[in-house]
Amino acid sequence: MPKAMDPPIFPSLSNEEIARYSRHLILPEVGMEGQKKLKAARVLCVGTGGLGAPLALYLAAAGVGTLGLVDFDVVEESNLQRQVIHSHATVGKLKVDSAEQMLQGLNKHIHIVKHNTMLTSANALEIFKGYDVIADGTDNFQTRYLVNDACVLTGKPNAYGSIFRFEGQASVFATEQGPCYRCLYPAPPPPGLVPSCAEGGVLGILPGLVGVIQATEVIKLILGIGEPLIGRLLLVDALGMNFRTLRLRKNPDCPICGTRQIKELIDYDQFCGVPKPTSAGPLEVNSNGSLEGNAYASFADAPIVDGIPQISVEQLKARMDAGYSPFLLDVRERHEYAIVDLGALLIPVGELHRNLHNINVPKDAEIVVHCKSGIRSQHAALLLKEQGFTNVSNLAGGIIAWAERIDPKLPKY
Ligand SMILES: [Zn+2]
Repeated sequence: MPKAMDPPIFPSLSNEEIARYSRHLILPEVGMEGQKKLKAARVLCVGTGGLGAPLALYLAAAGVGTLGLVDFDVVEESNLQRQVIHSHATVGKLKVDSAEQMLQGLNKHIHIVKHNTMLTSANALEIFKGYDVIADGTDNFQTRYLVNDACVLTGKPNAYGSIFRFEGQASVFATEQGPCYRCLYPAPPPPGLVPSCAEGGVLGILPGLVGVIQATEVIKLILGIGEPLIGRLLLVDALGMNFRTLRLRKNPDCPICGTRQIKELIDYDQFCGVPKPTSAGPLEVNSNGSLEGNAYASFADAPIVDGIPQISVEQLKARMDAGYSPFLLDVRERHEYAIVDLGALLIPVGELHRNLHNINVPKDAEIVVHCKSGIRSQHAALLLKEQGFTNVSNLAGGIIAWAERIDPKLPKY
């Protein structure tokens, strides 16, 4: 509740702003005082994708005075199924520029701060410093743990949301009283088992639903009203249209907010099992798209990740053009294969271990595994290696890289 003699620390509202926010101002729980708090508030949206789009739109409409946007990506056609902050007109533009254009069109009274960068261990603390609330709208585990840890270390609440296919989650993490994301999930799942949002698919309206819940929590935190989702995890099931809430407790053994053994940000790529090349970097490709040097170099010259050579699409194409084709294995799902395929044998990664007999080649035959982007296929290649296949490579970048760099006529999904 507002105190009787609040010091005049909040900015005043112009007549134009008073007219704009009138439906807030006549709500006693918001009022002039609350609207000024919103104007003074600084909120950082991590990502301007599926969750970040509705989140930023509603925060802007509500009059949050400073909105920070972190994104390094450009708008793609396939984003528009859910990322309603972007449009056909901004396809190919930086997402932060596209989002800024839409948000300033919606509310000229707010200030947009663009962080056109990938959020990393090197910049997160510095960026977070300038904000009061962080809203995590990312779709990968590296950034999710990074945002959580940076929120705990800087003492900023994290209005969290995540989505997968038809289900979503929301909570408010990293407050003094409540748990953090790591209290719930101390470590990420094994790499390759959980596809990213880009790989796994999502019902387009679901991030709208969850992003608006995040925005609601942000507004409540700023106004200090209601009961935020602190210590509660909201589970949204869009197909059954069920909302459930789980009670969460602070974990005293949590390495970041409990024991505090983590005192600084770590390497989240390694922590989340994202492969890093251990020998040479990616092969150089000249302007004609062909390989510099020996185009017929053996796959054994490719960068190695966890013992698996990573071959580029250019390298595979060059070898195929030379008349030699390794055994191609596609480990995506059947509905993905139905969209586009490279003529490979299809065994979805989850079915691989019980279908090894279908890989009807000698154990030392050259096998190239691919998926959509190269993560699931890396996992599959490791499984094949464990099962005694001695010459298995992973197609770096997967069928998406093939469609982008080798055969642009192929559909991208
Ligand atoms: Zn914790």
